[in-house]
Amino acid sequence: MAKQQLDVLIIGAGMAGVSAALKLQEQGLSVQILEKSKGIGGRMATRRLDSMGIEGKADHGAQFFTTRSPEFSAFVKEAETQGWVKPWFSSGPEARPSGERRPEPGSEGAAAGAAPGTTPAGAQEVHTRYLAVDGMSALIKHMVAELKPTNPVHLHQKANRLTSVSGKHWRVTCDSGMVYEASRIILTSPVPQSLELLQKSAITLPTTPAGELEKITYECCIAVMLVLDGHSKLPEEGYLRPDSKKVTWIADSQKKGISPALTVLTVHTLPKWSQRHWTSPDHDTVQQVWTDIQDKVGGGQVNLVSSQVHRWQYSQPRETFPERCLALQPGEGGWTHPTLIFAGDAFGGPRVEGAYLSGQAAGLAAGTANGSTADSVAT
Ligand SMILES: Cc1cc2nc3c(=O)[nH]c(=O)nc-3n(C[C@H](O)[C@H](O)[C@H](O)COP(=O)(O)OP(=O)(O)OC[C@H]3O[C@@H](n4cnc5c(N)ncnc54)[C@H](O)[C@@H]3O)c2cc1C
Repeated sequence: MAKQQLDVLIIGAGMAGVSAALKLQEQGLSVQILEKSKGIGGRMATRRLDSMGIEGKADHGAQFFTTRSPEFSAFVKEAETQGWVKPWFSSGPEARPSGERRPEPGSEGAAAGAAPGTTPAGAQEVHTRYLAVDGMSALIKHMVAELKPTNPVHLHQKANRLTSVSGKHWRVTCDSGMVYEASRIILTSPVPQSLELLQKSAITLPTTPAGELEKITYECCIAVMLVLDGHSKLPEEGYLRPDSKKVTWIADSQKKGISPALTVLTVHTLPKWSQRHWTSPDHDTVQQVWTDIQDKVGGGQVNLVSSQVHRWQYSQPRETFPERCLALQPGEGGWTHPTLIFAGDAFGGPRVEGAYLSGQAAGLAAGTANGSTADSVAT
């Protein structure tokens, strides 16, 4: 197979990875993304479901996003002009679903850190919640379509081992047997997964960053998707944050506008409840969730016809690294390998916005890092 010069390999085709790729492309660098799944989007995930030949959809990861920084606001404004995103609803912090930080200190919820230049946690202000038209993963698909054919995403490529070749460039071996080489790597997988990859590769991080990264932990979340045989009685906006000890968020994909023909609800369970029921069989989880919510969604007038369960082990970071990315450069701080950059929603600030900003920062850092180009080899 023909060889091509490759500057940067990115692990992960979620918001951070694709944002980084676009930043690198803007600087004229060559980039490829390795994604272990069969689709792109990561935790901006949309699933197709059907019932008796009627097709529906549900976002089962991130439900919406807000804009607090000028950079992400500009991106979202452009995406709105393109027709990729649109406002969903506006309200204060009390309406935040599982994807958002809780304003109450010590409550169950996601990371408390705010990205530099963004609104601090708990600030009582109203934010517009945006949704991606056609589902969250569609936004990432639109972004990927902006990449040149020479900067592709490779699906079904789980990075399994990183090797530093003579300290000059990286070789990445995937589960599939494919091998890629590049002068720099950006890791956007959740931090524990990135650390596991390095451990498997026998690559030791310098003590200080290793300690910082090991402190980053994530909440887990069980997402239950429920197909109903009629309209739900959720409010017109299509979401509810119920008063419940199990469930933190219910969304109606039909009212959200992404599943016109079929009513599909996405229900997120609270982190502590998710942890306790992590290994329960799916039918038990669905039964418990349905019992908890059916009065609120119109059970009695509508019936549950089918369901799916997805377990998010790394739903949202509890703590974030203070900077928008962590770049290890050869010869600095005892790092003897080629440039390695950590990015994602655990860097500088959580959520979709944090992931976008982290990707931009990582793309910039990789673009300005020292590093000769290397061959990308498909074997
Ligand atoms: C249930 C839930 C609800 C949420 N709600 C909201 C919300 O309402 N609003 C909001 O702003 N945010 C929300 N979030 C958070 C938001 O989804 C994330 O912050 C954001 O999508 C993270 O993007 P990322 O690129 O950093 O990581 P990810 O999206 O996780 O991307 C990482 C990618 O790396 C891939 N990968 C991992 N390991 C490997 C490997 N070894 N080789 C190749 N590929 C690999 C993964 O498959 C994945 O595609 C929610 C998240 C969840 C799970």
